[in-house]
Amino acid sequence: MKLYELTISQALEKMAAGELTSVELTRSYLDRIKVVEESVSAYITVDSEGALQQAEKADRDRGDGKVGKLCGIPISLKDLLCVKGMKMTCGSKMLENFVPPYDATVVKNIRDAGGVILGKVTMDEFAMGSTSESCCFGVPQNPWKKGYVAGGSSGGSAVSVAAFECAASLGSDTGGSIRQPASLCGVVGMKPTYGRVSRFGLTAFASSLDQIGPLGRSVEDCARMMDVISGYDAMDSTSVVKDVPDYTMSLSAGLKGMKIGVPKEYFNGLDSDVEAVIKNSISVLKDRGAEIVEVSLPHTEYCVAVYYLIASSEASSNLARYDGALYGYRKEGADSLLDMYKETRSSGFGAEVKRRILIGTFALSSGYYDAYYKKASQVRTLILNDFQKIFQDCDAVISPVTPTPAWKMGENIDDPLAVYMSDILTISANLAGIPGMSVPGGFSQNGLPVGVQLQGAHFSEEVLLKIGFNLEQGLDLAPRELDI
Ligand code: GLN
Repeated sequence: MKLYELTISQALEKMAAGELTSVELTRSYLDRIKVVEESVSAYITVDSEGALQQAEKADRDRGDGKVGKLCGIPISLKDLLCVKGMKMTCGSKMLENFVPPYDATVVKNIRDAGGVILGKVTMDEFAMGSTSESCCFGVPQNPWKKGYVAGGSSGGSAVSVAAFECAASLGSDTGGSIRQPASLCGVVGMKPTYGRVSRFGLTAFASSLDQIGPLGRSVEDCARMMDVISGYDAMDSTSVVKDVPDYTMSLSAGLKGMKIGVPKEYFNGLDSDVEAVIKNSISVLKDRGAEIVEVSLPHTEYCVAVYYLIASSEASSNLARYDGALYGYRKEGADSLLDMYKETRSSGFGAEVKRRILIGTFALSSGYYDAYYKKASQVRTLILNDFQKIFQDCDAVISPVTPTPAWKMGENIDDPLAVYMSDILTISANLAGIPGMSVPGGFSQNGLPVGVQLQGAHFSEEVLLKIGFNLEQGLDLAPRELDI
């Protein structure tokens, strides 16, 4: 086994036994990045020197008995998380040369736990998208099949984990952007409950929906990341004061006494390979002692419309700050201040971002606010109520993450609505603020990974991790060759 193939748990064990140093582990990832990056395009910035310095420090700390929960573990970060002194582009020309002056809280948490930051990874521009094809600095490739999308918007995170270019990654999920690329790239991804993880230092897309979360090669690795990034932060007014359980300790075999719902609305128009993987996963959970019941989420059909109104409205407000005056890119040579704003925004943002700003500005404008934004917010409550009703009786719900496996690059590029519809099964968790995760469930007939989605009540991450752990163990998927 190559060093870069180790899971976090395996690497920590080897380092504790004195059989591995963080410098060796970090080097193996940096070498791997050199070899595969040309075919997968996961990274925007690789900080080799900084990573090796952090690794040396982690090794020294370990020698001194200061062993954080991620001591010496190399991690990649979606390029919308602030790292002091490291360029942060958000995948956009608008922030091409922007260097944040501070660390995001999750970055500080990773550092405090001894983690090693390898660099920043590709994403859809400002996290708007489902394929990462709108990234201005490289489009990540699905490592399982050449020419197929990695998913998005945290495509670089999923690819860097799947292609063994880091031990784990942090992404962000506003409408599925951790779970969907995790599913399409065959890795584990978790979107925590809204408020579980601080958003301080995360570039805002839609503030009432955004959450940061981990992507890893095993459920246990995600639990380890959750242990480090979760908890209250005074710098984020929506972070919640609530004890954080030990997620890694909550992973145990057996699901006796658990009831898992299967929402009937989530099985309409599914690809047959996806359906087969989910059915198989359901039977695995049954074998492990869970009771499976059919449930209903009757407002599912409204999710896409509600999400794209709310997310775009919030985006139009959040992205108003990029006007050439304060951050990043400015179009020079304009005749007036107003022209400078206009020209900067017209040439700094890509097509999808502009589309969202236009939709959002329209939905918020006077005369339309009640009909669109307010109405969408009301339906959002109905969507939350659907889930709350189910969770009075069920511990979690199981479903596909996406209706199909990964599709070919460029396939839906001129049909934004088709891409929006592919988010139908993930966006409800963000609208309801509940946690969700994607666990690899199997492969389609043409060799593309298919993820299984688990969603639970607010702050039930440990339940989802436990179910995911049992699914992973029960399926025991045989290792396969990547196509890179
Ligand atoms: N695909 C969704 C969108 O384009 C979700 C994005 C996300 O979660 N950041 O808005």
